[in-house]
This record gives sequence, structure tokens and C-alpha cells, in this order.
Amino acid sequence: MRVGNGLTCRFWTDNWSSFGCLEQYFSQDSNFSLRIPAAATLSSLQRDGNWRLPHARSERQLNLQAYLTTVQLTEEEDHYVWEIEGTTSTRYSTSAIYSCLYGEGEVVPWDQIVWIAGGIPKQSFLCWLFVLNRCPTRDRLLRWGLQTPPTCLLCNLAPESRDHLFFSCTYAWELWLSQSRRSGLDPQRIWDAVITQLQAFSSRSWRAMNYIMSQLAIFSFNVALRLLLGFAFYGRYMASPQTSLVAIVQLCQQIQGLQAPSAVAVLNLLNQVIIYSLWREQNARIFKSLSSTQEALFGVVDCAIRDRLLSLSRPTVSAPSPTLLELYFWFLSPYS
Ligand SMILES: [Zn+2]
Repeated sequence: MRVGNGLTCRFWTDNWSSFGCLEQYFSQDSNFSLRIPAAATLSSLQRDGNWRLPHARSERQLNLQAYLTTVQLTEEEDHYVWEIEGTTSTRYSTSAIYSCLYGEGEVVPWDQIVWIAGGIPKQSFLCWLFVLNRCPTRDRLLRWGLQTPPTCLLCNLAPESRDHLFFSCTYAWELWLSQSRRSGLDPQRIWDAVITQLQAFSSRSWRAMNYIMSQLAIFSFNVALRLLLGFAFYGRYMASPQTSLVAIVQLCQQIQGLQAPSAVAVLNLLNQVIIYSLWREQNARIFKSLSSTQEALFGVVDCAIRDRLLSLSRPTVSAPSPTLLELYFWFLSPYS
């Protein structure tokens, strides 16, 4: 605690002196209370520039009175300062404290895709569990010895596992494929065909041109992105359906270019919302006997994405163009 006017600095409990918390510092003294109220602030103990404390009756009290002669109340407000190994900051950082206590750990390759800025915490947490493959998919339940049918509840065609649920399940596959048609694009697998398709947008508006330029800037750095499949969400970013979480991590790490940070932000959010929505759908089928069509699930995902991006796209004077929400609209449906 940095002492200013002393109005909010609590005498007993704030760490304002070199002795730390005085409640603990004086705990060994017989006249512990010093006749100072528990909620007293520093300013309440000073009058006309003089500290009004009882006479010192111990070494510790003498030390405090000597220290107080160096404390000068000012017009500035009291404020907290966090000091870690000589570096001070007015903002508390849990990660900095953790690193200080336990040391810098090895950075995992998927941290940027799980702990994303602007992500929805519960979805980030679920994504983290799935990256570690710690969610109770049926293959894991069977390995634990629980009696449960092995079949995936979404498609009823194959054993349920993490990789199946999100990447090879026909329900998820159909969801993306069917919605790609809604985007107004036929699935394309050839770079030239995609470029031709994108160029067709250019005559429609400057926004479309801007869109194309941003796409080219992103795609030109990644060979894998030169082939696009018309998925509703990923179609204009991804070469083909990603077959594992590792592949998605690598893809997001490879995207570069003018709009890359925004595109990666939207992609990461999409990943998490889709994973979360598919897992909820699986749970709804188990526990509520309710099932949704791919179209209904797309609506849920679409709504969640729009809501989140809208909350992240507040206009500012120097707002970069485009906003995340605009970017999402463009690659979801550039005609709308
Ligand atoms: Zn399935």
C-alpha cells in the first residue's frame, strides 16, 4: 500500500509500513490494541500534522513511531502497488504471482487456442479439458469400467471418443457442410477456383474488396489455406476439415497477415463455441432425451458467436477496421 492522504489506508491490516501487517507485528505485545480502533485509517490518527499514538511501551511500538516520523500524508489518494522481485505494478496479476512462486513453466503449444482473449470462460475451460482429453466421452467411461453403450449419441454410427465427436462424427460433418451452402458458396478445393470466386465479390462493394484483400493477406502465408472447403464457419479460412485439435492449433499458429489477429480471434472463438455446443448437444441427448437438428445447432452457434463478438466490438474513435463482428459476417455471408 502506498500511502497518500491516508483516508482509505487501514492502520492495522494494510501493508503500508516496512513492518507489514501491524495486526501481526504487534500480536506479541501485551497492550496489543494501542487503544486504536480496528477500522482506524491512517488519516484518523493524525491531527494538525502530528501522529496521535499512545506512548511506546515495547521495542516494536518504538520502531513504528520512528517509522511514522518518515510518513507524510499528501493530497494523493492511497493506492495499492504490487511488487514482485523488484518490479512494481498498480495491477494485480495472478499469473505473475504464480510464476514468482512456482517459476516459469513450459509454454504448451495450445495455450493460445484455449486461453483466448475475449473467450467465454466456461467454454475455454471445456476446451482445455478436451485438449487434455479429460472429458468423460464414452470411450473413457468404458476404460474406467463403467457400463455404457459405446456408440456416439450424435450419429449412432461409430464409437464415441473426443476425436470422433468433434472431427469425424457425421452429425458434426453434416452440420458444417449443410451450412456451407447457406453461405452462398459451393465448396471449392482448388485455389484458383477460390480466387475466382472471391474476385466475384469485388464488384459488389468496397467492403467485399476489403474482405478479399484480408483473405489474401491471410492465405498467402499458409499453403494449407490455399484450398478451401465451403464450411459455414471455416470455409473461407481452412483448407479442409481439421482432423484433430493439434491440427487446429497449428493452423491458428500459422495464420499471418494484415487481418490475422482478428481472424485468429474469431477462429478461436468459433472453435470453442462449436466444441461447447456439440458437447451440450451430446449431454442433452443423454440427460434430457432432447436432440437438435444440425440447422438448430447452427443457429445456437451463430447466435452465441454474434452475441460474443458484439460485446467485443464496441466502437472506439480509433477502432481498427473491420471489427470482429464485421469480419465474422463477411466470412459467414458476404452477400448479406
Ligand atoms: Zn458421431
